[in-house]
Amino acid sequence: MSAPTFRIKEAFYTLQGEGARSGRASVFIRFSKCNLWNGRESGRAAALCQFCDTDITGIDGENGGNYDLQALLDLALSLWPRDSDGYMKANPYVVFTGGEPALQLTAKLVASFKDSGFETAVESNGTLPLPSNLDWVCISPKGKSEVIIKQCDELKLVYPQDDLQPEQVKHISASHYFISPMAYYGENESSGMIVRENMQSATLYCLKHPKWRMSLQTHKLLGID
Ligand code: SF4
Repeated sequence: MSAPTFRIKEAFYTLQGEGARSGRASVFIRFSKCNLWNGRESGRAAALCQFCDTDITGIDGENGGNYDLQALLDLALSLWPRDSDGYMKANPYVVFTGGEPALQLTAKLVASFKDSGFETAVESNGTLPLPSNLDWVCISPKGKSEVIIKQCDELKLVYPQDDLQPEQVKHISASHYFISPMAYYGENESSGMIVRENMQSATLYCLKHPKWRMSLQTHKLLGID
């Protein structure tokens, strides 16, 4: 049987922009494809998730491609900074994201990263099973999709969503609860940019419900990926 191949949209070294680990140096590995949207504008209206602001199709991003396990690990190792003796600098950290990483992520891949010194995190829509050996799980429920992950480290809700209110995810247990204002989305050049009204309504929600904390996409404010 041939080894699994991972379809990677892009992979890069950056600062985590959102949530409890905001500001932390991270290797981001973005898996291609999602189970809640086909990634095409023509399919957006019929999608379970209709406000995606990320290009999730193909393998044409930075360092994108088809990788076997070892090649993907080697790529991540090459992206992490090293000291003059060639050792990886402090706290190597990888974030598996997408698209929906659960479509491709395996426990074996996670174990290989951990064996090589990486702390491992995932950002998932929570609708599919995840490997149990991840160090950090961030779930971001979307619209009417059925979330099967009921416990996580971080619950991040894009706000406001017509089909999903924060009260509807109270059965999901998390150590951290974040509201993230919805950005512009679509094909125009504003896609991904901040929407002032959404920031205001998210602020009001957090003020009324202090269990929830604000998460801004600080990587966009910083002008990094
Ligand atoms: S679940 Fe995430 S990756 Fe999938 S379409 Fe929605 S925002 Fe995009």
